[in-house]
Amino acid sequence: MLAEANPLPGAPPAGARDRPRPTDVAPSDADRARAWLEVDLAALVLNARRVRDAAGVPLLVMVKAEAYGLGAVPVARALAAVDPWGYGVASAAEGAALRAAGVRGRVVVFTPLLPDDLPRAHAAALTPTLHRAADVRRWAALGGGAWHLAVDTGMARAGARWDALDDALLAAARDVPPEGAYTHLHSADEGGEDAERVRAEQVARFRAAVAQLPTRPPVLHVENGPAVERGGRSAWDLVRPGLYLYGASCVVREGSAALPAPEPVAHLRARVVDLRTLRDGESVSYGATWRACGPRRIATVAAGYGDGYRRALSNRGVALVHGREAPVAGRVTMDMTMLDVTDAPCALGDAVTLLGHDGDRVLTADAVAARAEVSPYELLTGLRLRVPHVYRGAD
Ligand SMILES: *Cc1c(COP(=O)(O)O)cnc(C)c1O
Repeated sequence: MLAEANPLPGAPPAGARDRPRPTDVAPSDADRARAWLEVDLAALVLNARRVRDAAGVPLLVMVKAEAYGLGAVPVARALAAVDPWGYGVASAAEGAALRAAGVRGRVVVFTPLLPDDLPRAHAAALTPTLHRAADVRRWAALGGGAWHLAVDTGMARAGARWDALDDALLAAARDVPPEGAYTHLHSADEGGEDAERVRAEQVARFRAAVAQLPTRPPVLHVENGPAVERGGRSAWDLVRPGLYLYGASCVVREGSAALPAPEPVAHLRARVVDLRTLRDGESVSYGATWRACGPRRIATVAAGYGDGYRRALSNRGVALVHGREAPVAGRVTMDMTMLDVTDAPCALGDAVTLLGHDGDRVLTADAVAARAEVSPYELLTGLRLRVPHVYRGAD
């Protein structure tokens, strides 16, 4: 079942926190009334504390892509409650936006910067991840500041190959020592012995690369969120969680998981803007892919794939309407989605839940993503643009 009346094992008992309901936050202006994303900052902070406590080291919280769609600035401000070592972004522009909002602490840019981006990164007091000797020299010439060495141990995405740190790079690292060095695991969320072996191999490669540096950089980091979820205590100086903070996880929880399932953070609500009763055999939406068996009550809610509610949820998704499940009827359209509310009390203007909590019932990001056959990363980042974001305060 997609909706669970009870939290997953290890989560605090239902009622331990107030689970948000669609009526808790009613955005006032007319545009906000159609659909909105409610971001539970208290749940965010709770998830972050769990990661920090399990890892036993400070957090470099990944807030790239607008904090996975939830809003980088409000998320970064709320996460100040866990006193993070720093914030991870993907570009100089993302980092500069955090600085403009007054975020302090290290802001590390993980996507390689092109040479022309370095002045901008420097102006915003960002920390680049570098691996080309010329860039390290350029960074120093700009006035320098902390930088981290990116080591590719098998992801083949960014950084210097662990077994090919060239003399020019090592000389640059001697003259301008990096504050940190890191690598990224490509199969942290996968179970099984093969994945275990691959992770160990990547770690061994990273150790070999670090051993070649003239001195050990003070801040070495390897684990993303899934690695902490699996492994618990960090062997390094900080961890870089993302998805888990935002209430989702790709890790299949076996008995040994170091962390419980995350607390949902994102709650997608949409209002009922139309209601009709269909007769037996009548169809709903494009392509007439859904037909009524007997008289059915159909509600139209004002959110569709233009809001990030995936089209793949056509005839597959469910919503929570006053705590009851109502299946998606027919294709999800750009601006509207139809629900079969025959078995749920439902009136014009009601707010329904497409993702997240309706009291103690929940559509987790993982479950909704699985139904849509996308990763929870894509599901959440897809909520970035059109729906207004409403923040419930961290306590
Ligand atoms: C996005 C990212 C992370 C966070 O990964 P999650 O799976 O979301 O925890 C960590 N490190 C790097 C380099 C990343 O790009």
